[in-house]
Amino acid sequence: MTAPINRIINYSAVDGPGIRSVLVFQGCNFRCRYCHVPDTLGDCNGCGVCAYHCPVGALRPGDPGLSPEWIEERCIDCGSCTNACRKDSSPRIRRMSIKDVLDHVMEHSRKIRGITCSGGECTLYAEFMTDLFPVIRRQGLSCLIETNGTLDFEKHRDLLEHCNGVMLDIKAADPALHMELTGSGNAEVFRSALVLARMGKLTEVRTVVTGADYGARETVEKTARMLKSYLAKSDIRYRLIPFRVYGVRREYRNLGTPSRQFLEELRDVAVSGGFTRVLIS
Ligand code: SF4
Ligand code: SF4
Repeated sequence: MTAPINRIINYSAVDGPGIRSVLVFQGCNFRCRYCHVPDTLGDCNGCGVCAYHCPVGALRPGDPGLSPEWIEERCIDCGSCTNACRKDSSPRIRRMSIKDVLDHVMEHSRKIRGITCSGGECTLYAEFMTDLFPVIRRQGLSCLIETNGTLDFEKHRDLLEHCNGVMLDIKAADPALHMELTGSGNAEVFRSALVLARMGKLTEVRTVVTGADYGARETVEKTARMLKSYLAKSDIRYRLIPFRVYGVRREYRNLGTPSRQFLEELRDVAVSGGFTRVLIS
């Protein structure tokens, strides 16, 4: 079994507790306006355009319909290829097996606490992660998931069995605003929040807060209300993430940064709703 991996970030301090290696899976079922990794969203159609934008010849045009061959040793990580891609994809995606991932992770295992599966939307590859997690856990490393919550976790209990925790994005409480922001509804997201909390696997909920009004206050209120009975008995963090323009597609860069005062008001809403740990970062 293999899965398309956009890249592996060997050391990250922002994707769960401790220093972690992050597997960035390719493909997503949402189209969030503020996505800061848009090259993880789409499927490559092999148009070959990116190869002509590489300044160092690290992309060799392939057969029609196939992604260019990526010559990793030449790549200077300039991003010109992904900037040129009109399919929100990348020519640097690799299909990796469980062994490929394990071998890569173990090169860095002495400096990390574990791995975090991210994306894109990593749960599109739930079967792959279900096989991967016990292998990683046997090495003494922990396994976390960052997700938009669209997977039916009740049907994937075997995935959760070896998962140490899930960090869940809750983007907007209002279904219409969620649709506008992501292109999808939010019923599954809230269902996942409850399912994960009930199973004791929900470690963090996250909301990106923009300067535009996507109902952040209502989102924090509804999330706290819904999780209230779990907050007293489990340590679920709420992370409020200020919108940052870095990496965002040109047409959505004007969403605006929220004021510090507004973020602190949201933190107060979360605390009065029962969250004991609320982070702004
Ligand atoms: S990564 Fe994008 S630009 Fe490059 S071949 Fe694939 S679709 Fe075309
Ligand atoms: S990121 Fe690498 S492959 Fe892409 S254009 Fe730059 S050098 Fe070429």
